[in-house]
Amino acid sequence: MNIRLAFSIIFVLLSIALMICAFVAYRSKKDIGKPLCNMLVAIIPPIVGNFLIVGSTSKTLATVGCYLYYVGIDFTVFQALRFAMSYCKLTYKNEKLRLLILSLLGIDVIQILANTVFHHCFGMEETELYGSVYYRMIPYLPQNLHRVLVYLLLAGILGIYLNKMFFSPRMHSWRYATIFFTLLGVITWCTFYVISRTPLDRSMIGYGVFGLLTFYFSLYYKPTRLIDRLLLDISSELPDAIYFFNDNDECIWANKKGLNLLGINEGELENVRKKLEPFFSSENVNNNDNWSSCLIMNDNDDKKYYSLERRVIRDNKGRVGASFLNIRDDTEMQINLHRESYNARHDNLTDLYTKDHLYERIEELLEKNPDQKYSLVFMNICNFKLINDIFGKDFGDEVLKQVASLLRKYVPHTGVYGRIGGDTFGVFVPKGAIDMELVKKLLSGYEVSNGDMTYKVQIHLGIYETENQRMDVSSMFDRARIAEASIDNNFTNHIAYYGEDMRKKMLWEQEISSELKRALEEKQIRPYLQPLVDTEGKIVGAEALVRWIHPDRGFLSPASFIPLFERNGMIAELDKYMWRCACELLDKWKDRDLFISVNISPKDFYFTDVYKDISSLVKEYNIKPSRLRIEITESVMISDVENKIELVRNLQKDGFIVEMDDFGSGYSSLNMLKNMPIDVIKIDMAFLQNAKDVKRTKSILRSIINMSEDLGIVPLTEGVETKEQYEALLSMGCKMFQGYYFAKPMPVEEFENDYLK
Ligand code: C2E
Ligand code: CA
Ligand code: CA
Repeated sequence: MNIRLAFSIIFVLLSIALMICAFVAYRSKKDIGKPLCNMLVAIIPPIVGNFLIVGSTSKTLATVGCYLYYVGIDFTVFQALRFAMSYCKLTYKNEKLRLLILSLLGIDVIQILANTVFHHCFGMEETELYGSVYYRMIPYLPQNLHRVLVYLLLAGILGIYLNKMFFSPRMHSWRYATIFFTLLGVITWCTFYVISRTPLDRSMIGYGVFGLLTFYFSLYYKPTRLIDRLLLDISSELPDAIYFFNDNDECIWANKKGLNLLGINEGELENVRKKLEPFFSSENVNNNDNWSSCLIMNDNDDKKYYSLERRVIRDNKGRVGASFLNIRDDTEMQINLHRESYNARHDNLTDLYTKDHLYERIEELLEKNPDQKYSLVFMNICNFKLINDIFGKDFGDEVLKQVASLLRKYVPHTGVYGRIGGDTFGVFVPKGAIDMELVKKLLSGYEVSNGDMTYKVQIHLGIYETENQRMDVSSMFDRARIAEASIDNNFTNHIAYYGEDMRKKMLWEQEISSELKRALEEKQIRPYLQPLVDTEGKIVGAEALVRWIHPDRGFLSPASFIPLFERNGMIAELDKYMWRCACELLDKWKDRDLFISVNISPKDFYFTDVYKDISSLVKEYNIKPSRLRIEITESVMISDVENKIELVRNLQKDGFIVEMDDFGSGYSSLNMLKNMPIDVIKIDMAFLQNAKDVKRTKSILRSIINMSEDLGIVPLTEGVETKEQYEALLSMGCKMFQGYYFAKPMPVEEFENDYLK
């Protein structure tokens, strides 16, 4: 067959193939599709040109072929460059470069086309080839511009692929290498034609083949071997143990972790089946193809957690081809999970249940045993703030820990307990499960020691006993709290049981407290006065005693609200008000030689500056300090003794008279007198009246009176109810008296009417 015909057919077939590929590339969803399509389309015109040169015997056709060839190559190279950039994910860093390339190509195209007029670039010569006319191109000098430009661009394209080839990870460089070497081949092939000027130019076959190969490599080729390798590498390194089995269920491969887990090496795969047996129990394995399950195994003392997964691969006829087993060691994750959930449920310091978890556990118990009666205990360390302040946080922590271990030791297993927060704990036990006598004993002398220090820790328990109707846990705790709050700070009583009356009292207290401010403004609260008489029965002064005449509740005794206000700190407001009332009266009674005694609660010292308040009041009303007498009780001396003594001294220096109220009621009365510079002692008959032995009572009274005389302190007896008492006290040498025998406390107007007229 004619060789020229044969090559013509090849060119036609190549063009058709390229067209099909361009169409496929155009339809492809890959990013590379469009630039690939452009490149493939661009290769077609020069191939057609080459076909015309090779196949025609007409000079005109051959000349048209030449133009198609040269102009087409410009477009091909340009599109090949665009494709290379898109394939290698490059963009122009410099827009000028793109413009330069475009303009150079434009100039080249123009100068080639201009050849039709000027014939400066190339000409055609007629030769004979295989027995027929063949037209061959004769290059002139400007033709070299075309060549140089094309070679430069091709070199640039090669550079792009080469760069990617070297600087990509090994497993990817093949993608660039294949295209690089194909292109290099094409260039060599073409150069051969350019240099040799072989009569039959078939250089475009190279471009065509390059187009088809690029199409295949960029769109279709998958390096299966490489992928296999990658998969194998990845599975070998996986943290899970992986085993592959063949159709006979024999292990054919295991990864490193898989070998380690069973303690075998690569040559012992036949042992895998046997060694895996402990991982399969009837519970976690079933006959299905695919299953997954969890397994807990005891490894000496430790627990090991595994999750297993099996997958079977069947062929299209349903026959088992292979299977694999994946075993993951979840021990660490499980331990972390357990630890996290443990931490969420337990208090860091004491390791007891947290409040939330304790509530949950209590709810569980109630649900499980609906008929059981329970005691819910709210436990409070009363002096915890003091312990922290005085001994430091570490000792405070130690106290909490020791209380926690107390709970561990004494709460029976049928109950639950936890730390509610700060210095409070909660216990929930079946009613009667704890020996309360033992608890009382424990609490009464409870001390905590850290080796160096020992401290008496005061713990109070409020107990709520569940009834038949269900109540939510937090309400139960509210009630136990109310019970706890009702315990006085008297060091003897540590336990209180909740009763409905307590809740009512609590409500009453809340209401009364919220009403105090208004009561003072509206003068529902006012002073009553009780006269004080001397040895001749003459009125020398009065004690101001607070009264609350409530619009709804009627007459309220100070005994009902004073302890409450002492607890919540409102007492200072009330007392300051009373002191002011006394000063107003003294101001009104300017020309009378009468004094008024006011009460100062021990709690006033916590909440206000007593010295400053009193001094500024007498200044404000311009009153002689000796007319405002100050009554303090010995309980003032429980804390901060030095400062209190100093305060009393200062008051005396300023001219105030300080009286010791309720003398004999406390335990350190006599001791107190030694240190405290007191002017008057008020002996309360009430403390002596209960004594059966009248003679003894009298002799005690007599000695107190004598002793006070010796110390230069004026003795005053209050609570004098009868004439006999008065006369007896007179004979003992008492100097002042107060009591119902003379007069009861009375409203100010009555006092003024009776005694100041
Ligand atoms: P107190 O300071 O010892 O006051 C004397 C109490 O004894 C008064 O009770 C008075 O009414 C009562 N009393 C007086 N003479 C007799 C008597 O012959 N027989 C009997 N059985 N009782 C007599 P009151 O007014 O109920 O006050 C009770 C306590 O309340 C006072 O005891 C005092 O501790 C406190 N208190 C009263 N007013 C105030 C106040 O304004 N501020 C403070 N902080 N406490 C006050
Ligand atoms: Ca008093
Ligand atoms: Ca008194």
